[in-house]
Amino acid sequence: MVPCSRCGRPSVIHQRYSGLNLCAEHFEEDVQRKIRETLRTYRIFSRGGRVAVALSGGKDSSVLLYTLKRIFSHRRDIELIALMVDEGISGYREDTLQNAAALADRLDVPHITLSFREEFGITIDEIAERDLHQAPCTYCGVMRKHLLNKRARELNAIALATGHNLDDEAQTILLNYLRGDVDRLFRLLPKRPKEGLVYRIKPLRRIPEREVAIYAMIHGIFPRGHGSCPNVPRAMRLEVKNILNEIEARHPGTKYSILRGFDKIRELAPDIHVDLHRCERCGEPAGGSVCKTCQLLEGFRAKPLSHKSKNSCPDVRLGSSAGQSE
Ligand SMILES: [Zn+2]
Ligand SMILES: [Zn+2]
Repeated sequence: MVPCSRCGRPSVIHQRYSGLNLCAEHFEEDVQRKIRETLRTYRIFSRGGRVAVALSGGKDSSVLLYTLKRIFSHRRDIELIALMVDEGISGYREDTLQNAAALADRLDVPHITLSFREEFGITIDEIAERDLHQAPCTYCGVMRKHLLNKRARELNAIALATGHNLDDEAQTILLNYLRGDVDRLFRLLPKRPKEGLVYRIKPLRRIPEREVAIYAMIHGIFPRGHGSCPNVPRAMRLEVKNILNEIEARHPGTKYSILRGFDKIRELAPDIHVDLHRCERCGEPAGGSVCKTCQLLEGFRAKPLSHKSKNSCPDVRLGSSAGQSE
């Protein structure tokens, strides 16, 4: 048994980047401290309001809801509401949605399920069945963001919280560097909320993925199901993920360095001004005259029907466990 560096009781985790062994209690303290510090940087919680939490039923968003509920337990002026999205991915969503609803009930957090079928008249399964140049994940990500933002705004939420962890953030930052996509890089951290767009926050961005998993296990938050989408993440993100894990193993703390470095640059950079319009079709915020969701769906519907068998599509149903949805 390895003793906790703080109190000598048996430890549940060794953090290579900090050199600490932590018992369950001190691990909890460490996780909560990092989340509180992250929340402070958003500067919106001095006054109260409603916080929408995107809840997929996977381990990240489940830990997100659980920790936010704990952290805000003494704040009567802050109301959490869980937003769940049913994208229509059979064999995957039924389970995770059930997990998600059960957790929200257990935490006494109201929850709403938003459905692709109801909102867009189509499911990801139907999109994935067709011959596409783009992976279904492209549709899924864009449509989910659209739907979450819309409902959070209708609920007058002061923020929309998502479960991105340190690994996701470091991967995204590195990916955007590798692609030279500076605009997208800076859009990661909006300095202030923009009209029509609910302020997106990532309270777990300083918690490593591994620690999210350990936290979930300790609290019995995510007891069954794999929770990752059967549609595999795009190849380059997976490469970056593997590279990052290799570097982290040799040089513990690298993921934090990437995040810190990016945050410093972000502070120095001018607030990139993006003119937001109203989508001509659906009225939601859009970069141009038509929003990305409407563009994708119109492009999809304009395509001639050419069904292909599910099994022949390399992008679907590989049962990968690596899927981290946004
Ligand atoms: Zn301890
Ligand atoms: Zn639109």
